[in-house]
Amino acid sequence: MEYKKIIDFIHDIYGGAEFVPLSVPVFIGNEKKYLNECIDTTFVSSVGKFVDRFENDMAEYTGAKKAVVCVSGTNALHMAMMLVGVERDDEVLTQALTFIATCNAISYTGAHPVFIDVDKSTMGLSPDALKDWLQKNSEIRNGQCYNKSTGRRIKACVPMHTFGHPVRIEEIADICAEYRIELVEDAAESIGSKYKGIHTGLFGKVGALSFNGNKTITTGGGGMLLFMDEELGTLAKHLTTQAKVPHRWEFRHDHIGYNYRMPNINAALGCAQLEHLDEYIADKRETAKAYEEFFKNVDGIEFFTEPADSFSNYWLNAVILKDKDAQQKFLQETNDNGVMTRPIWELMNRLPMFEKCQHDSLENTIWFADRVVNIPSSVRL
Ligand SMILES: *Cc1c(COP(=O)(O)O)cnc(C)c1O
Repeated sequence: MEYKKIIDFIHDIYGGAEFVPLSVPVFIGNEKKYLNECIDTTFVSSVGKFVDRFENDMAEYTGAKKAVVCVSGTNALHMAMMLVGVERDDEVLTQALTFIATCNAISYTGAHPVFIDVDKSTMGLSPDALKDWLQKNSEIRNGQCYNKSTGRRIKACVPMHTFGHPVRIEEIADICAEYRIELVEDAAESIGSKYKGIHTGLFGKVGALSFNGNKTITTGGGGMLLFMDEELGTLAKHLTTQAKVPHRWEFRHDHIGYNYRMPNINAALGCAQLEHLDEYIADKRETAKAYEEFFKNVDGIEFFTEPADSFSNYWLNAVILKDKDAQQKFLQETNDNGVMTRPIWELMNRLPMFEKCQHDSLENTIWFADRVVNIPSSVRL
């Protein structure tokens, strides 16, 4: 393996830096100006103009009917589970190949994840595997889908657009509709990514985004819910803000509410970052193109490219090694030589909290787990 050539190339495209991190934010716009405005006006907390502006700007950017800010992507997903009616002892179909937040959010409601395989072409939930599992394992009773072996209700399905690459979401949406399962998209990694021209997160009842520090744009920490159903979005706004009935001085609440609202200072950062999002994505796609061309001439390593019908933000670039030994060797060589890389997440079904959860063969999932390595992906501007 030509490790030196690979390591030199990565140092090179990142301007010769001695250490190349995996994914770090860039602040080249109005960040400081907007943050100062928050401090100067004292609006640093849960209300302020940047909260409203960020929601409006993001709704416009994505094409959502409504966007609702949250404190993190994880609690955006938790809220999404509650909004579609996931309850204790329900089951939720998702990927084992995801970041822990997807499964944590499912677990907060008392529901159980069931792990379905991913596609080779997308690294995300496979509609073929989903259909196959549902045909064998589920039945519809009283208009609801049930797992024949556990007797539990299958309430929702949460595909995740891995590393920003859209899954075959239309087919998944059709299957969910056929089986009366609510569709929630974990679009935490896929801001700006589109499937057939439509922004990810808009195909189901709810989509969740993340603005954590390592994501394509950041608010420090933060998340967002996207809706095409405006009424559901309005309910989300109410529930994420302690379910307070609007009144000038009275404190009355009509639901168990949550303090999940993003503070104004974080939203200020988000507004400034969003002004440059398209520039960042263009830059990331250029980096991906450079990697793609480079790895064409490297034996035994394949660069993962955007699937058909999709526009990917290339949040995190990924290469596929030929087996687990090659993966481990690649991780060792790059991390020893100033290039930060990491394997894909430990599979969810291998973690102690989820090892008893039902799953299908996970054939492609395991194939990827043994081979994928993420390589530096920060914006290079
Ligand atoms: C980042 C991420 C989240 C949300 O994470 P937060 O840090 O809570 O914003 C959820 N799901 C996936 C797949 C993610 O990558």
